[in-house]
Amino acid sequence: MSRSHRHAVVIGAGMAGLLAARVLSERFERITVVERDRLPDGPEGRPGVPQGAHVHALLALGGRILDELFPDLLDRMAADGVPQSFGGPHYWADFGGRTLSRGGGLHEKPILLASRPYLEGQIRRLVGGLPSVEIRDNCVALGLTVGPSGEEVTAVRVVPADEDEQNLAADLVVDATGRDGRTPVWLRELGFPAPEVSEVVIDLRYVSRAVRLRPGALGDVKVVLVAPVPGRPSGLGLFEQEGGHHLLSVAGYAGNHPPTDLDEFVTFAEKFAPHFVGTALRDAEWLGAPHRHRFPTGRRRHYERLRRFPRGLLVIGDGICSLNPLFGQGMTVAALEALALRDAVAVGGPDLAVRFFASAAELVDPAWQMATSVDRKVLGLPRSSVERAFGAYVDRLHAAAESDAVLSERVQAVAEMLEPPSTFLKPTVTLRVLAGLLRRR
Ligand SMILES: Cc1cc2nc3c(=O)[nH]c(=O)nc-3n(C[C@H](O)[C@H](O)[C@H](O)COP(=O)(O)OP(=O)(O)OC[C@H]3O[C@@H](n4cnc5c(N)ncnc54)[C@H](O)[C@@H]3O)c2cc1C
Repeated sequence: MSRSHRHAVVIGAGMAGLLAARVLSERFERITVVERDRLPDGPEGRPGVPQGAHVHALLALGGRILDELFPDLLDRMAADGVPQSFGGPHYWADFGGRTLSRGGGLHEKPILLASRPYLEGQIRRLVGGLPSVEIRDNCVALGLTVGPSGEEVTAVRVVPADEDEQNLAADLVVDATGRDGRTPVWLRELGFPAPEVSEVVIDLRYVSRAVRLRPGALGDVKVVLVAPVPGRPSGLGLFEQEGGHHLLSVAGYAGNHPPTDLDEFVTFAEKFAPHFVGTALRDAEWLGAPHRHRFPTGRRRHYERLRRFPRGLLVIGDGICSLNPLFGQGMTVAALEALALRDAVAVGGPDLAVRFFASAAELVDPAWQMATSVDRKVLGLPRSSVERAFGAYVDRLHAAAESDAVLSERVQAVAEMLEPPSTFLKPTVTLRVLAGLLRRR
């Protein structure tokens, strides 16, 4: 590994920022990660990542990437007693309202069921332990400094706790400050255009509660997922977590927001939870207060369309695309973007941003198309004729998959981002869908 660059600054120590720092450590002599929050030593939540209180599924593709970047991560988590998922039986009612079995066949290794703070804490420990990485917490990034040409970012203006503002010089700055990241504002301040935004209003609300279920209450099911469907725009995820308890996240689109009062919350969930889950929830010990989260829109910023962008600056993670969390794609997309960052930096050159944003857009596209198309369907919003036709075909595919293990595995592979949705159009799949339709008739 040759280190050809000197200093990179990553703003934000969330999942995208940590993964960016990990791949940059292969090329940069020094990486400084600046984080606004005080970072906890253990797996505690923090204000900068409020979504950490809600169920976080790591898709199979994300698991594979983390395994590549941190070869002993999964083993360490298993040794910590983190429960395993997706290798075991679980209950999954998909966006077509069908109940599909999900086996472990697609997973090279079991995926471990950890809370978001726990997973982030593990990755932070590994990244922070890299000799070239320094994580500075309690340190807010305020803006960017450009060099004399006005075309190149040369430093980040930061304010560490109890200190004066400083200029942190950098050969590359990566903004990983999340959905409400400041780059569009900073670009305008520096005289650059801000990226176009695509947005789908979904007015999604999450309410989550930790719960201790009676031993064996779910049989050997470790994961329960019920996705919203047209006519019932609400769903839930019930995941076993480290520490032996479960986390129940209930979410609903516009007009179907879950209540926080415990009794009303359970009644709301019971309406669409499978019967055995409803029974388990009624007979459970609830731990702590409910957590709420509002997610108004799916939002994508098209940095790939910008004609003018300063050298020495990139954006990664939710700052590029903040996806409806019900699909569980965010951390996996951040991991894919980290790999794209690694490739782009390895090639180097003055058009780094052009190449990186083009790759990131290609990676984000299938996830964005899938999430926004299902959102529009569930909410009854206008859809293009292609979306309607593909959606109708996928409904039939899901129906056939209920009694076809091969199709069920393809559905799972797409949901886990191992294959793109275009997989569904392969002749091997379409023929099985046709056979399924004929069988049903
Ligand atoms: C309710 C909910 C549930 C979700 N469930 C899933 C799921 O099941 N599976 C999944 O893969 N994804 C899920 N996601 C998405 C996932 O959390 C994100 O996509 C993923 O964590 C990537 O986020 P990020 O690192 O880009 O940003 P963030 O996690 O938002 O991190 C941004 C970081 O930047 C810091 N920061 C912000 N401003 C500054 C500043 N000026 N200076 C210094 N630091 C700053 C913040 O403190 C924070 O640490 C969910 C999201 C939500 C909202």
